[in-house]
Order: sequence, then C-alpha cells, then structure tokens
Amino acid sequence: MNARIPYVNLAGQHQPLREEILQAVGGVLDSGQFILGEETGRFEQEFAALCGVRHAIGVNSGTDALVLALRCLGIGPGDEVITAPNSYLASASCIALAGAIPRFADVRSDMNLDPAAVARAITPRTRAIIPVHLTGKPAAMPELLAVAQQHGLEVIEDAAQAVGAKLDGRPVGSWARIGCFSLHPLKNLNACGDGGVLVTDDDGVCERVKLLRNHGQPNRNDCLEFSMVSRLDSVQAAILRVKLRHLEQITVRRRANAEHYRRRLAGCARLRCPAEPRGEFCVYHTFVIQADKRDELARYLDEHGIGTAIHYPTPIHLMTVGRMLGHQPGDFPETERQAERILSLPIYPELTPAQLDQVADAILDFYRTN
Ligand SMILES: *Cc1c(COP(=O)(O)O)cnc(C)c1O
Repeated sequence: MNARIPYVNLAGQHQPLREEILQAVGGVLDSGQFILGEETGRFEQEFAALCGVRHAIGVNSGTDALVLALRCLGIGPGDEVITAPNSYLASASCIALAGAIPRFADVRSDMNLDPAAVARAITPRTRAIIPVHLTGKPAAMPELLAVAQQHGLEVIEDAAQAVGAKLDGRPVGSWARIGCFSLHPLKNLNACGDGGVLVTDDDGVCERVKLLRNHGQPNRNDCLEFSMVSRLDSVQAAILRVKLRHLEQITVRRRANAEHYRRRLAGCARLRCPAEPRGEFCVYHTFVIQADKRDELARYLDEHGIGTAIHYPTPIHLMTVGRMLGHQPGDFPETERQAERILSLPIYPELTPAQLDQVADAILDFYRTN
C-alpha cells in the first residue's frame, strides 16, 4: 500500500526552507521594525519587478488588496462591479465591502470570464470589471479590456491565484490599472500567515493606496480621509523574500506536474484536463479537471489514499448572499454545470512522478469500472 497523498502539504513545503526562513525572521527580530519597514519595502520592490510594473504595495490580505483597489478608484455606494460567480468568495465580497453591488457574468469552458457575457451584464451603474485568473490561468485580458474601454469602465485584476502567470508574455496583474494578489498560505507565493499585495504602474494609485492602507494618514499629525489599517508586516515580508527566490522553481514544478497529468489522462474521454493554449503561461494554483461522476471519483480516490478538493462546490450566486442579490439556479448555466464536474487534483511542487502516476492510475482504474 502506497503512503497517502494529501491534497496539500504545507508542512512538507516548509521543511527544506526552514533554516532560511528562521534566519530571515531572526533578522527582523534584531531590527526591531515590525510594521512595513525595510523588509516590506524590499519585498514590494522585488514583487513589482516580478510583475513588470513600477509599484507594489503590501497589505494584510488579498481581500484587502481588492477592497483598497475599489476604494482607491472611488467605487462605492450605488455602483455595480462585474466579476465571476465561480471564483473564491472574496472576488465578490470585496465589492460589497467597498459599498458597491456585486454583479456576475458567466464563464467560458476554460473557467474564466466570458467577455461577451460581461458585455451583456453592463448597466448604466456599472463602474468596473474584476476578471479572475482562476486556477492560475490568465483571463481573456485583451477582450475584457476592450469591453471595459468601450463602456468607460475600470478593470481590477484578481490575480490571487496567478502569481507569475503570463498572457502573451505579459505578467498577469500588469494588464489592468490595478492587479491584486493574495499571499495566503495556500497560494503559490505564500506567507506564513495572511498577506496581500497590489501592483500598478500608476503613481497616483500607488500614493492613494499607501494612504488608504494606513488610516488615511499622510503623516502622524493629519488624516485626509478615514480609512482602514492594512499593512504587510516585516516578518511576513522577510519570509516572502525567501520564498520569492524559489518561486520560479515552484512554478516550473507545478507546470511539469500539470503536464504529467495531461499526458497520463489525455486518452480518457470521461474527463477534461485544463488546456494551455498558445500564448498562455499558467501557474496551476489548482489543477482542476472536469469529470464525469465527480463525487464518486472523489470518494474512490479518497478510499485509495488520494486527497482532492473542489474549488468551489457552491457558486457565489447560489450562496445565501447570492440569493439575497436576487439570484437563482439557472442564472449562470456554464458555472453551474462546471460546479458539478470540477475536481482539484494534488499539484504541489513536492509531488514525485511516482505519486503523480499513482493519482493518474487511480483515476483511470475508476473509469474502467464506472
Ligand atoms: C485567495 C483568493 C482571494 C483572497 O485572498 P485572501 O488573501 O485570502 O484574502 C481573492 N480572490 C481569489 C480568486 C482567491 O483565490
């Protein structure tokens, strides 16, 4: 019997980095600088370079990054913002937290926003679009930016799952005016706690977000407008700088694992693997197959020692908050169809080829008898 393959293994990921991380944390303790400070400034510079933009601003979480982006652009009460209903909840909750109304548009078979559906969802109150690069796969940015431009809308990229992903060679987060990333422990570039970061080429946006993340205070003796406090702390920044040095390798491994699954599962007509069309560089935050008999397959894999997950079982428009916005089943058919079929396979860099084969073999075995 093979050892169990968990869906995620965060302790295992940190084992080889332990000494480097402890040393980085020790440096922060010795510096006595815990909020923002030098380490955060250096991380922000390195992250901006990674995204090919002028500015990165570290905040408390990916959710806060999105809320601050909306507030920075003056989007609030009375405004509508369109996003994807199949995303993590925060893609929509940030809109409500900014005081605006979340609106949804359906996705394409590749799980990212359908630009034509976005265009149909626009009303006179629409102010912005939040495309999500779900699973680490770039959304259709040229088409979405064209729709936005045609209607005079802002665009904020929710790149929480997609650090390092590119479309036509250009990093996600750098396509729109603002890109937002999460540094949550489960994301590809992860802090040992909560964290988030915004990126922008716009000097005015950078200045305003720095104000809004810090009580609205330009200095200790004044406040220009009441605001929240949401800053990336120095300990997390120091840890993230260690992780940043390994990000390229992490991405290489995730992509190789995805390719391994694709190769092994290509012949199976009962499921669909995520494709990577020309021009896309995907980073596989998750590797989501769309599978017949999904729940039975998940149970079979669990019984055979393989952990899986579903991202996400209930589309946002069918949660209680979505019903409160007036939604019902059938509103976004492609999203709802996928919600019944999606299954996330283990994809972390530490997986060995033998373990990937074990997962693929179990899936093929299941469909031989089901
Ligand atoms: C994780 C995630 C967020 C929120 O990030 P947090 O750091 O957990 O607040 C937002 N959007 C998407 C698509 C995410 O996956």
